[in-house]
Amino acid sequence: MGIIVQKFGGSSVADKEKLYNVANIITKSYDEGNKVVVVVSAQGKTTDGLVSKAKEITDNPFKREYDVLLSTGEQITISLLAMVLNKMGKKAVSFTGWQLPIITDNNYSNAKIKYIDKSRILEKLNEDYIVIIAGFQGIDENENITTLGRGGSDTTAVALAATLEADRCEIYTDVDGVFLTDPKIIKDVKKLDEISYEEMLELATAGAKVLHNRCVEIGKKRDVDIIVKSSLEEGTGGTVVKHQDNLEDMYISGIAKDNNIARITIIGVENKLGRTYKIFDLLAKENINIDIIVQPIGEHFEKDISFTISKENLKKTLEVLKKNIDIIGAKDVRYREDLCKISVVGVGMINNPGIAAKIFEALYENNINMHMITTSEIKISVLVNFEDADIAVKSIHDKFFL
Ligand code: ASP
Ligand code: MG
Repeated sequence: MGIIVQKFGGSSVADKEKLYNVANIITKSYDEGNKVVVVVSAQGKTTDGLVSKAKEITDNPFKREYDVLLSTGEQITISLLAMVLNKMGKKAVSFTGWQLPIITDNNYSNAKIKYIDKSRILEKLNEDYIVIIAGFQGIDENENITTLGRGGSDTTAVALAATLEADRCEIYTDVDGVFLTDPKIIKDVKKLDEISYEEMLELATAGAKVLHNRCVEIGKKRDVDIIVKSSLEEGTGGTVVKHQDNLEDMYISGIAKDNNIARITIIGVENKLGRTYKIFDLLAKENINIDIIVQPIGEHFEKDISFTISKENLKKTLEVLKKNIDIIGAKDVRYREDLCKISVVGVGMINNPGIAAKIFEALYENNINMHMITTSEIKISVLVNFEDADIAVKSIHDKFFL
């Protein structure tokens, strides 16, 4: 029989009752004859709680110690879940990231998995154990504990599925799959039965919080079918993320809203060769991810450059830019935090002209001003005022689907 990987997020394992519920899902798959590898997140809002504890002490903890702290939440869940399964009469054993080990690079708080040693997992599966693994964590080559970035347990699960050549990777959450947009914004919004890796990747990167974007990248590269479904209710079978052949039929597969952005504008950059390169090189060296970039053609000897980053990088970005303002050759650095990014994703965009116009029309009809626009082959993103964001999502949704 094949291996399946099942991942349960924080809301699915939040308390004792939820752990029993999850244990029932696991034993059902196990009793059907599968070899089951389970990946879990920290319970409920545990990781947020750990972040607050660190903040009580310092705004700038050593990154190494921060990851030691943040990785602890998952260790609680693996042991409790193993106890529940044991109590139900099943053989179950837990492993932390370092016990396997899961080897990552040393980029604390956003580490990438390099290699997973699967020997202990296979050994235990062969002895008919259910193997439970802490998500979100690993160790670097010097045995420092690392974490994979918030939401990173998804990535642990898909990386394990790839390494173990599992039949599939099931990601259990509190909603029944991937929806066209956040059901909290639009009630009764359509659930997708299937979505391509490409679209899911754009949506995850655009701020849809269903899946960690790096897990989708791994899934795509290693051809792992990822199934997103609810652990709390018998749903409709969730959403399958996989390769799709009939890409052209699909039109729009998602509208995502991202609150977690800040826009930086660097004013009066000298219009000289290498200035833009210098700016983004400085930020890259600090591991700051840049999203939308706009650099209008400088008419005279100066230009303004705007770009977006995630809010947690704002302080660092301002620091780096202000410190280097002379090297960059700019007059001023400004920022706004009161904007929201709305992204519309769909492979059908490639072959259907007019989608951008329709989106802009929907926003215009609702008096929503756009502060920045960017497009790729399968995505259009716009920045709007925070307070306009939900209406923007709804108006775009209604324009295409009503
Ligand atoms: N516990 C971690 C977090 O809250 C990782 C995860 O849940 O995937 O971000
Ligand atoms: Mg998650």
